[in-house]
Amino acid sequence: MNDFIEWLGQRIWQSFLTLAVLATALFVIAKITNVATKNTPYAELSNRVAYIEDTQSEFGIEDVLSIEDSSWNRMSSSDMSWGMHHSPVWLKTSLPQLDERHEWLLEVDNILLDELDIWFLYGGSRVDYHAAGDGIPLAVRQSEHAQFIFPIPHYKESPITLIVRAKTGGTLNLPIYVWQEPNYWVFHGEHNLVVGLFLGLLIAIGLSNFFFFITTGSTSFLYYFSYVMAVTLTLATIYGVGYEYFWPTTSWLQAHGIAIFANLSVFFAALFGRATFEVDKVSKLLDRILLGSAYTFLAASVVSIFVPYVITIKVFLGMMTVFVAFSLFLGTWLWFNGKPIARVYVMAWSLVLLFGLLTAMGSFSIAGVSSSFRYSPLLINVIETIVFALILAFEHRRKQAELQETLSEAQEDLSYKVEERTLELQIALRELSEINNELEKKNSLDALTGIKNRRYFDKKYVAEVRRSRREQTTLSVAMVDIDHFKSINDNYGHLVGDACIQHAANVIQKELKRPSDEVCRYGGEEFSVILPNTDKDGATGLLEDIRRSLENSVVDIEGHQISMTLSGGIATAKSQWQGDESKLIAVADRALYESKQKGRNRIIHHYLSEED
Ligand code: GH3
Ligand code: MG
Ligand code: MG
Repeated sequence: MNDFIEWLGQRIWQSFLTLAVLATALFVIAKITNVATKNTPYAELSNRVAYIEDTQSEFGIEDVLSIEDSSWNRMSSSDMSWGMHHSPVWLKTSLPQLDERHEWLLEVDNILLDELDIWFLYGGSRVDYHAAGDGIPLAVRQSEHAQFIFPIPHYKESPITLIVRAKTGGTLNLPIYVWQEPNYWVFHGEHNLVVGLFLGLLIAIGLSNFFFFITTGSTSFLYYFSYVMAVTLTLATIYGVGYEYFWPTTSWLQAHGIAIFANLSVFFAALFGRATFEVDKVSKLLDRILLGSAYTFLAASVVSIFVPYVITIKVFLGMMTVFVAFSLFLGTWLWFNGKPIARVYVMAWSLVLLFGLLTAMGSFSIAGVSSSFRYSPLLINVIETIVFALILAFEHRRKQAELQETLSEAQEDLSYKVEERTLELQIALRELSEINNELEKKNSLDALTGIKNRRYFDKKYVAEVRRSRREQTTLSVAMVDIDHFKSINDNYGHLVGDACIQHAANVIQKELKRPSDEVCRYGGEEFSVILPNTDKDGATGLLEDIRRSLENSVVDIEGHQISMTLSGGIATAKSQWQGDESKLIAVADRALYESKQKGRNRIIHHYLSEED
């Protein structure tokens, strides 16, 4: 039940987070659309522009002015795009009639132009000239913005002619707009806000993943963080934010930045995919290709520092085409080889492909598809970043769950093994204690007669003395010795002697009736008998029975009939006896000695006296 509540809590929390992220994303997208559509320029000049391609890069302004109107080309589509066109293009148009009570601005909406020259002509003579281009550091430009904007001079009557010369290493797009000045600044502010929001979002995503890297140590997070940062730098270059706010004096970086950072983005994206999907575990070959392409992009990034953008951007686009195709294949392959989340990866790269196609169609002016939506690179990259984050989250979660499972399996296995070993140990211990008992028993037996031995007697004697004191009972102890045993040995040999000792032991054992009575071989042909809870009469009676029994029995061995007698001494301690424990046995010994002295084959009894 608790598990369920925890699970539900997690689900709700996750859904809440997802919703919050989606809502923010939607808000930002709505804001972008709003900015992109609401703040429109006063006029767009694409419909009225004529152009000349300066393929030899040989024209000056005078040459261009002297070219007949009929020799100028008309734009075939309205998106002012020449694709990858690296020789300069000249444009000519007349500005619309503008209300001279306001200030007006001209915007050439491509901050990546290498060279841009603008002439305003009035009545055939030059009024204003501006030289611009991203090669000129922002710090020395007339306006400190990455965007190319120029004030339009005031003239009441007939229209102003505009001549533009533009050259770039990248895609030559030249959308030209006329703005009423305050409107432009509002637009510019909102534009920067939107771009700033997106880049801020990317940086936040990137940083949080960097912290995940620090806490989890998983390289996937590090690659993802690096990828997001490279993407952020690429976008910051594309949108001029980097140039405007971070490196205004480094026009070199503005010129090469896109190629450097874009290559770096793909480098990290490849490493990210590789680490997240553990491609090396699925296919060594695909893994090697992926790693190879990653390093190719890294190399291209380094090369981009030195080689002009014109070349590197083409190489990048070529490599990208191959890499996207490979990524789509790889994603699909992983998808069908036990990595279902790879379908999201496929989706992400499909988006990139779609975007690339649209851009290509736009920049090569195919079939009226317009790539002029200002924020598409931003949007596509943010979406890609979020999709990658999703992959990362799912894969991380899956790996955690897998780890947890392996861990609990291992734990189960371990506890099973521990149980098994414990059981084995218990069995071994039981066997050991059985053997110990056996040993203990053997240790307490006399080898010759099979009755208890002296070692046992010593313990038993002390125990019975203490018990009799505790329980206030009478205790009798007897010492028994076979008479003239030496002569049996001498006459018949030791083996016969041994048999006689065995016989005597049997006789004594048979006469004992109570389970608590015990006979032990005290040594040689001497026996001791412990008789708990037995007084003088009981003990004397029993010992007399034993004596008679031995006297009347015959040992039949090796053709000899041997009969023996024994002498015995008994000591009885009354319940109040509190003296030295060893005294009782000493008194019994003394009684035995007396029996021997008085002629043998008899039993003598002594009480333990106060003096003893
Ligand atoms: P008495 O006790 O009547 O005074 O005479 P005895 O001959 O029995 O006296 P003593 O105690 O001196 O002799 C005991 C003999 O018993 C000495 C030894 O040779 C013999 N003996 C002791 N232990 C064993 C044994 O385990 N086997 C055999 N065969 N003889 C033993
Ligand atoms: Mg003896
Ligand atoms: Mg003897």
